[in-house]
Amino acid sequence: MTTSKSAASSQAHYAFFKGQYVPLQEAKVSVMTHALHYGTGVFEGIRGNWNQEKETVYIFRLREHYQRLLRGCRLLMLNIPYTLDDLCRITVELVERNGHCQDIYIRPLAYKSAEMVANLRLQDLVSDFTLVTVPFGNYLGSDRLRCCTSSWRRVDDPMIPARLKIAGIYVNSILAKTEATLGGYDEAILLNQDGHVSEGSGENLFMVSDGRLITPVLEDNALPGITRETVMHLAQNELGMEVVERTIDRSELYLADEVMLTGTAAHLTPVIELDHRPIGDGKPGPVSTKLQKMYFDVVVGRNPKYLHWCTPASPKLARV
Ligand code: PMP
Repeated sequence: MTTSKSAASSQAHYAFFKGQYVPLQEAKVSVMTHALHYGTGVFEGIRGNWNQEKETVYIFRLREHYQRLLRGCRLLMLNIPYTLDDLCRITVELVERNGHCQDIYIRPLAYKSAEMVANLRLQDLVSDFTLVTVPFGNYLGSDRLRCCTSSWRRVDDPMIPARLKIAGIYVNSILAKTEATLGGYDEAILLNQDGHVSEGSGENLFMVSDGRLITPVLEDNALPGITRETVMHLAQNELGMEVVERTIDRSELYLADEVMLTGTAAHLTPVIELDHRPIGDGKPGPVSTKLQKMYFDVVVGRNPKYLHWCTPASPKLARV
């Protein structure tokens, strides 16, 4: 995943907005927009990984991201006039039009676009879909993380379901991330209402203990992460590891051999310290290191076995 220095391709010029590809500066909503006031939207974070050799951006697990977005649309009664195939096609076209020759982040958003602020019912409000792409490098700012246990608890399913990427729910993540970074840590780990480990502010969590890879069950209010599923698949099928989904106690993390966070933005990043206690010997462990390398090869389209997870978009086909 190298990054091209081409200035011409470092900025996105177009957004998909109100059914059209428009210059980014024209993609604007009214201050009356319902989603702006109440967070009534669902979004995705998708990575496009630049493969220099193939001169192609490989969009990782595009369909799975849009399947999750469409599940969120059902919950929030967001009726958008696009099928799964439409959403994938629109995304490839926008990436190609924007001519990116570098790693990018793709941000689709389905939202209540009704210009109506004093209305707390979903059923009466019109919805829309918009999409932007931006150049994107390292998200967490470090390749070995120092984390804290957040004083904020993960939202519980009967409050707002954490299994969907609902815009408003991210205030929960943002409070936790802000507390952690102001405290000098790289990332926060949130517990759920019962005090069990849930996830990072924008990542799923894994620990290695007695040679097994263990991750919280989704019912402990973790997002069904696409990277989580990818890492579980690679660990099981490529490393022959036993992968277990179960409730994890807070104290188990301090005693684990390895801990890692996974997410589209975060990739797979080892946690080397939690609440001032080293994890394992305080260095990235062998399982994290192996999985991370394998994961990078897969997402950049270098592993032919997993090329079906990578949707190509070629800047040379740009239609602008
Ligand atoms: N948990 C939360 C709260 C997130 O925001 C994300 C990022 N989407 C993840 C986990 C990881 O999910 P994914 O691997 O699908 O990006």
